[in-house]
Amino acid sequence: MKHYDVIIPGGGLAGLTLSIQLKLAKPDIKILVLERRKTVAATAAHKVGESTVELGSYYLREVVGIKDYLEKHELPKYGLRFFFKNNTKEDIASRVELGPRKWLYTPSHQLDRGTLENYLVQRTTELGTEVLLDSSVTEVEFEKDKNTVHYKSKGENFSATCRWVADATGRGSLLKRKFGFAKPMEHHANAVWWRLKGVIDITDWSDNEAWKNYPEVKLRYLSTVHFLDKGYWVWVIPLVSKNTSIGIVADPAVHPFDTFDTYEKSLEWLKVNEPLCYKMLEPETPNKMDFKILKHYAHDSGRAYDGAQRWGCVGEAAAFLDPFYSPGTDFIAMGNTWLSDLILRELNGEDVQFRAEIYEKTYLTLVESWIPIYQDKYLLMGNAQTMSSKILWDWAIYWAVPAVLFTNKAFTDLQMLKKLFSTPDSLGQKFRMLHNQMQQLFSDWGPHDNEIFSNKFVDPVDLKYMLEFQTAINQQHGDKLLEQIAKNMSILERAAAELFRRVSHEVKGTPLDMKVDPYTMRLDAENKMPPPEPDDAKCAPRDEAIIRDIDALWFYGEKQPA
Ligand SMILES: Cc1cc2nc3c(=O)[nH]c(=O)nc-3n(C[C@H](O)[C@H](O)[C@H](O)COP(=O)(O)OP(=O)(O)OC[C@H]3O[C@@H](n4cnc5c(N)ncnc54)[C@H](O)[C@@H]3O)c2cc1C
Repeated sequence: MKHYDVIIPGGGLAGLTLSIQLKLAKPDIKILVLERRKTVAATAAHKVGESTVELGSYYLREVVGIKDYLEKHELPKYGLRFFFKNNTKEDIASRVELGPRKWLYTPSHQLDRGTLENYLVQRTTELGTEVLLDSSVTEVEFEKDKNTVHYKSKGENFSATCRWVADATGRGSLLKRKFGFAKPMEHHANAVWWRLKGVIDITDWSDNEAWKNYPEVKLRYLSTVHFLDKGYWVWVIPLVSKNTSIGIVADPAVHPFDTFDTYEKSLEWLKVNEPLCYKMLEPETPNKMDFKILKHYAHDSGRAYDGAQRWGCVGEAAAFLDPFYSPGTDFIAMGNTWLSDLILRELNGEDVQFRAEIYEKTYLTLVESWIPIYQDKYLLMGNAQTMSSKILWDWAIYWAVPAVLFTNKAFTDLQMLKKLFSTPDSLGQKFRMLHNQMQQLFSDWGPHDNEIFSNKFVDPVDLKYMLEFQTAINQQHGDKLLEQIAKNMSILERAAAELFRRVSHEVKGTPLDMKVDPYTMRLDAENKMPPPEPDDAKCAPRDEAIIRDIDALWFYGEKQPA
């Protein structure tokens, strides 16, 4: 029986990048990747997971080391772009638009998953990994000194032993099923998607020259475009193969799945909800390359790593929450980095049981604290002001804390994790509390935000603190990292308090300069009594620059165009 250091069931994005990450760190490590797919991956019509954001892009470019490939063979991405509902959805130029006007400082990419996975197989093979296609793992046995993986390859049964098993089987969730550590997930949404042959540039969807030329050329085409209204969003993503990915994602409480779970029904659904998309996409039907559906895609996990039995789950084999902000590759980046660190240390003779527990706890906490970003938030997608404020907030926290921690290698630094999370007033705990406060604020505010806006444009980096966070993602802070996170947290506290003042003023008429403790603030919209005054020491000070930043995202108080 052949023996390996690591066997990776599942050769998708998570498994293949993990194998490269390990090989780059330890070239003589023996790795076997077993992938169920029988042949090379199809161009365009392969998988979802086509849009990347900053953390995941950094991982692919700098850690997996495929920056050159991405720059030559995949598309650059011009950020996420959102179009909100108005009364004339047929006129894209008049919809509230949120997205960058120029290139963002930190790069990201649109991925053709078939092209990419074929390249990753080639790259890891060059580095010495054995990759077997048409090979399905059927069982894994764990013993004290070695683990055994049984698999069927090209119709025949085989077994191999290894020290570590890295489950990267995606929704196959090999180990989660074996050990039964799936956790209930309260966030529910459904998705369908299809790929169309040919380029679709939404800039061509309007004749309004001023609108067409507003951002830089190709900017809208190269963005991940989202069209939103209550309970749903629709994506349009360009692929390097000159094809286009389209998807509908919706909360069943507003849009039951059986209203769009076939291609024909999806078109009918678009006709009602996104008439311009329907008009532009329906004639492309002969160019349809595939159509896929996924019910209740969000799933959670109670485990991630085991240092004693020497296994880990990465990518979708662990948890997956929601594609709204394209975070799948981010979770692959963090999960792979934790697991490769455990594997490399253990192969080097270190006892990693304690470390594995800390990494698992950090991962599970991160997933849990990210759930409120999505749960019940599809109900807010028809509110342009609430939702654009939320999107900017969600971006801000992501750029200011997890993205910087990842690029600064803090997630595998036990001392740093201890400083960040060990006491109730540590920065990591405050981050969680502030984030929960804000998600509650958005939920409380949504029902009171009923105005429909048109002809507005918000660029995230019009907010100076957002620009500051974006440009700092890739900076190395060395022993000043904690100071940097503290500085970012202080900005976030002031921004949270200022947005709260604005919302409370609009909803309840409270003074714009009221005192706010961002950790206890509550909108409590039905209660017309003035809120109790918080302790001065706990209030976030007002800050002229942040007041101007909130002005940049605030639509209320301005005249609607005729
Ligand atoms: C609707 C939707 C949209 C999304 N959009 C984005 C996005 O824009 N950006 C983003 O970053 N993420 C996105 N994601 C998430 C993204 O798809 C995943 O993060 C990513 O594909 C997970 O990669 P993976 O390698 O874990 O799983 P996969 O890519 O699914 O790979 C798992 C592999 O394991 C193989 N396999 C399964 N069982 C076995 C077995 N028993 N033996 C051997 N092989 C096996 C499968 O053939 C497969 O190739 C989206 C998810 C959904 C549901």
